Amino acid sequence: MNPRAGRIVVVGSLNADLTIYTQRLPRPGETLHGEGFTVNPGGKSANQAVAASRLGGRVSLVGAVGRDANGDMLLDSVAAAGVDVSRVRRTEDVETGVAVVTVDAHGENSIVISAGANGTLAPDDVAAARDVFDGAAVVCLCLEVGLETVQAAARAGRGAGATVLLNLSPIAQIPQGLAEASDVLLVNSHEASQFLDDADMPGPGADAAAWEQVRLQFAAHGMGRAVVTLGAHGSVVLDSDAGEGRRVTRIAPTKVDAVDTTGAGDAFTGALAARLAAGGTLAEAAAFASVAAALAATRKGTQAAYPRLDDVQRLRS
Ligand code: ADP
Repeated sequence: MNPRAGRIVVVGSLNADLTIYTQRLPRPGETLHGEGFTVNPGGKSANQAVAASRLGGRVSLVGAVGRDANGDMLLDSVAAAGVDVSRVRRTEDVETGVAVVTVDAHGENSIVISAGANGTLAPDDVAAARDVFDGAAVVCLCLEVGLETVQAAARAGRGAGATVLLNLSPIAQIPQGLAEASDVLLVNSHEASQFLDDADMPGPGADAAAWEQVRLQFAAHGMGRAVVTLGAHGSVVLDSDAGEGRRVTRIAPTKVDAVDTTGAGDAFTGALAARLAAGGTLAEAAAFASVAAALAATRKGTQAAYPRLDDVQRLRS
């Protein structure tokens, strides 16, 4: 048996999250005193890889970091979660990507990202990692690295017969070829609205018929299967491949005392990838991911807050 069978390949970003806490966000030209500072591992792809690995997935991460302290910190964190980091390239002359985050007393934030080494991740890196794609079950992508690279990874995933999961975040127009090479789109409701040309999204109490309209709009954009996350309201699975009457599945939220929802979307994406790789249907995988993401929201931080398989199983039983 191919030792790589059933693997999850995550291709994309690793960032150091530099977070400063303030009473309020500064106005242009203003200097404020902060109330604390943290440096934590982040980047959507690194987070998603950690989430999937903690939940039992066998994960390889394809990415790039600089030869600096932030690069060391990121590799250590991701590797400690059991992720294969042998395909994370270290750049000689470009620094590790950073996200400079300011969080105010209400939890409102403003974020500036410098792509750094992430911006050097190229289709050649995907080609060089071809052996990890071989036999992969799921390829997991987001838009924090260049679209050409994302598209190359989607095509490599398709070529390997993997399910290609595209987290459309941060939201951007995507080329038709990328939509065609992706199997499942994952978006929050804000991103879903933007992707569908600012279409109104159904509210929390909307019925299946309202979501059926959204499914048709995604399908018209070449995305027959999509999961829309709705924060504390749960999520909805839109699956054009399912039989009549099963194309819209509402996943109820898992009730928790949320402390920090930063990175909940990445926890959801990584968990979805892990469950799909284990052979679950899209609706089953989303129900599992909903519990994992809710658990992540009960703890501060992102990667450090992600649950293990037995945490999720305990809450589901
Ligand atoms: P993003 O982080 O990308 O904005 P969402 O806010 O939609 O994504 O959250 C992703 C998923 O995390 C939701 O679909 C839900 O399953 C879970 N989640 C987020 N916030 C909460 C919450 N307060 N309570 C329970 N689950 C939550």
